[in-house]
Amino acid sequence: MKKVSQAAKSAIKNLEYHQLGTCNICGNVTVFVCIDAKTARNNMYCPFCLSSSRKRHVAKVILNQIQNHQPKNKISTQITAIAQLREANKLIFYNADVDDAFFKYLYGSKFYFCSTFEPNIEPGTETRKQVYCQSLENLTFADASFDFVVTEDVLEHVRNHEQAFRELHRVLKIGGYHIFTIPCNFDQPTIVRVDTSGTEDIHLLPPEYHGDRIRGQILAYRTFGIDLFELLDKLGFATQVDFSSYIDQKSGIFDSYVFCSQKIR
Ligand SMILES: [Zn+2]
Repeated sequence: MKKVSQAAKSAIKNLEYHQLGTCNICGNVTVFVCIDAKTARNNMYCPFCLSSSRKRHVAKVILNQIQNHQPKNKISTQITAIAQLREANKLIFYNADVDDAFFKYLYGSKFYFCSTFEPNIEPGTETRKQVYCQSLENLTFADASFDFVVTEDVLEHVRNHEQAFRELHRVLKIGGYHIFTIPCNFDQPTIVRVDTSGTEDIHLLPPEYHGDRIRGQILAYRTFGIDLFELLDKLGFATQVDFSSYIDQKSGIFDSYVFCSQKIR
């Protein structure tokens, strides 16, 4: 008998949590597959595009911004899935992620740029067409290059987050959006886990590592808090947070929040 994979076993175990809906990335009517109900945000996979709940929440916020500014964005058709952007889109995207569900549909478009970070590769190196090695603290893109920049669960791992936000602001056009996810406590200040004021990291709390698809385990320098809004405002961003609601479950989005910072100056 064939061995059943761990993912399949988990999917069968969580059968009651699977959710019927429409994927806002590939556009298919689908069953979102639950692997672990406690961390639904990071799974509830769409079998067509393999997107997670988190990725679809980012997609929702992108699509909302596009709809809200339709005439200006020169998009005439109703866009309900990221995959449709490949044909209709004239907006320039930079996604600090590769080989994800967005990549599947948008890679190859002249409007789509993305990056990875590999410590041994010179930043700015084009490793595949329009895929660059980049450090968020020191991007090699020109000023005002993009309409949308996307970072997911990355900025808590950047040593100097203020510099990274400044860089993301720099490469956006006026009116452009930085759409991002980070861990954030909305009712308390940022928890600084590592003192980065000197050249060496000084751990103030037991080190917390998060899993990373490319680099394995990576250190979390902080858990963001309410003071982040002040910083973003100072840098020239107007920021809103989209919290998932019951209605989002039809797009397979569960228990998450996504930041949307517009460059207003
Ligand atoms: Zn999908």
